[in-house]
Amino acid sequence: MNEREIIRLLWETGHFWSPLNPEGLSVSEDELDKLTLTDEVVKKAVASYQDFLAETLDGLAMREHGRVSIPDGEVGPATLALFSVPRCGCPDYQDPRKAEEAGGSGSWPQGCYDRPDIHEVQYTVDKRRMPRSESEWLIVRNMVLEAYAKVGVLLVEVELGSSANIDTEWRVLRGSTIGLAEFNNGSCRDNVFCYVDPGFWPNNDDMADLWCHELGHNMNLPHTRGGIMNPTLIGGGRFNGWTERDPSTPRLRRFFGGEPIPRNLWWWDEKPEPPSPPGPPAPSPSGIWIDGSLSVKDKDGKSLGEFIVVPKPKV
Ligand SMILES: [Zn+2]
Repeated sequence: MNEREIIRLLWETGHFWSPLNPEGLSVSEDELDKLTLTDEVVKKAVASYQDFLAETLDGLAMREHGRVSIPDGEVGPATLALFSVPRCGCPDYQDPRKAEEAGGSGSWPQGCYDRPDIHEVQYTVDKRRMPRSESEWLIVRNMVLEAYAKVGVLLVEVELGSSANIDTEWRVLRGSTIGLAEFNNGSCRDNVFCYVDPGFWPNNDDMADLWCHELGHNMNLPHTRGGIMNPTLIGGGRFNGWTERDPSTPRLRRFFGGEPIPRNLWWWDEKPEPPSPPGPPAPSPSGIWIDGSLSVKDKDGKSLGEFIVVPKPKV
């Protein structure tokens, strides 16, 4: 990645609006071309990026330098590698001048559909560019729907083309961007997009992590340091849903009340086949049939020889 691309990335991911970069607010987009990596305002943006993505940068710094990362604003080999790590395209910091538009105080209300007490959100999935099979998708989907049900929001899939709150689509995104999604405006009728890049699906758990992350933005979650809303995926091939340790879980509980969606509403959850009710017992055979000869043993197992059964003579 070259200097221009790095500065563009820092701009698009909001690191000119970071509290760590107060001078950044006075930079306008058309001034970006004049900036270099040695300018103080760019170094502050780099330091802000290093700080926000410390969880990912630590691993890279450990490999390059044998120590954890230092957010010093210098673009060394570990930081250069960090800029190429696949990440979500949504900004880590909102432009404070536009922060109000971006919502963040609430999310999808309850009672938008038939059930008055439930936060229900309807979504569609456009699978035209989906890179894997339907059966793998169902595994991913069910993991994510369950994660959201447990924090109190019921995602209901509706047919592609019908009006929905969230439209998910595989779409080729720029550079190392693997996902992009919109915040909602807190109304039942809002419609927002959720994009995932078809080049990304290393395994089902990481794919679940990515979809869960982008839906997180659709629920009005910002990026956090660590957890599912970290700008890069740090799940390490294991999807655990919204855990107690995730910094976004308390916010989701606040949005959706925190009561898990009752299991009988988990429409994706395959119910085990109920055991077939016991029928009438099979008729027990009556009488004794003997084909050939009858071998009789005593109680110690010693054969008493073979017998032939003859009809009892009529008297
Ligand atoms: Zn994101």
